[in-house]
Amino acid sequence: AEVKEVEVEESLESVLTLLQHKLSSRITVERKFNGPKRVTCQPGPLNQVLMNVVGNAIDAIDGAGTITLETARNGSMFHLSVRDTGHGIPAAIRDRICEPFFTTKPVGAGTGLGLSISYSIIQRHRGRLTFHSEEGQGTEVVIEIPMDGTSA
Ligand code: ADP
Ligand code: MG
Repeated sequence: AEVKEVEVEESLESVLTLLQHKLSSRITVERKFNGPKRVTCQPGPLNQVLMNVVGNAIDAIDGAGTITLETARNGSMFHLSVRDTGHGIPAAIRDRICEPFFTTKPVGAGTGLGLSISYSIIQRHRGRLTFHSEEGQGTEVVIEIPMDGTSA
């Protein structure tokens, strides 16, 4: 796929706009943009990853809660953390969430393909996708990709 320079903060804002219908006032979105403004990557696939990871964060929050988007630079890597105060990922399923078709959502609500696709997109970028989760406390998803487009 085509590699281009992307304005990452704009990409995140447009993802939030696209997910606005799921975002009601019960969810506060915090932005901590301390990282690089531009990243060279595959723009369409990267947007797909952002849509899914932010969408999952929204889905994980049952009542009121907060989603924190944090960017940073880690050496030559662009670092994005998406943190939610949702229900967390039970330890028993942590190894399976990136499997194709694995979902805990009701029929019709989730395909279970989001993280499996996201994982392969990040791999293609020679990046990393990692999870930290505490049941009942929330989840942090960390996406790291090289900033300079050394990606596929
Ligand atoms: P889907 O969103 O269609 O269920 P995904 O591949 O995106 O498929 O996610 C797979 C599963 O991983 C979800 O059904 C959910 O159980 C779990 N999951 C992913 N992100 C989170 C999160 N932020 N908090 C809690 N569980 C999550
Ligand atoms: Mg999903």
